Amino acid sequence: MDRCPRAAATVATRQGIGYDFHRLVVRRPFVLAGVLVPFARGPLGHSDGDPLAHAVADAMLGSLGAGDIGELFPDRDPAFRGMAGLEIIRRTRAVARERGFVPVQVDTVVVCQAPALSPFRRAIVTALAGALGIDPGLVGLKFKTTEGLGPIGRGRAISAFAVVVMENQ
Ligand code: MG
Repeated sequence: MDRCPRAAATVATRQGIGYDFHRLVVRRPFVLAGVLVPFARGPLGHSDGDPLAHAVADAMLGSLGAGDIGELFPDRDPAFRGMAGLEIIRRTRAVARERGFVPVQVDTVVVCQAPALSPFRRAIVTALAGALGIDPGLVGLKFKTTEGLGPIGRGRAISAFAVVVMENQ
């Protein structure tokens, strides 16, 4: 016999997934979770194009069934032009808090051929943890390439994935 569906308000732990993809173009800063990485190209976007921050924010919204950052921060709205990715995370966290939820853990993957990101791992983890209000030990961050294949492999694009766990407070 089918169970009655649980009301959303009674689910105390939530998971969400987020994904983002940006072109890499010249004369744009290369920013990941607000950390500036010296490189000849950077993500193109209406905001700062920070794919890791955007994936994390979308994961939070997904956990709440609250749409996506394209709805919250439309790229047609000049108010969000150049908005920092970490600010988008902070605002999304505020939306979650209004609904009674806080992030407790996040895991992420950044897919990028170049530049080498490992030297920036600690700074990126620290920045993400700070924006989410969680311990850096609860932030996962992996760097992958596409072994030279496709637009990411040619250094023309970057993508990021995030999974977040949220708890009712
Ligand atoms: Mg984006």
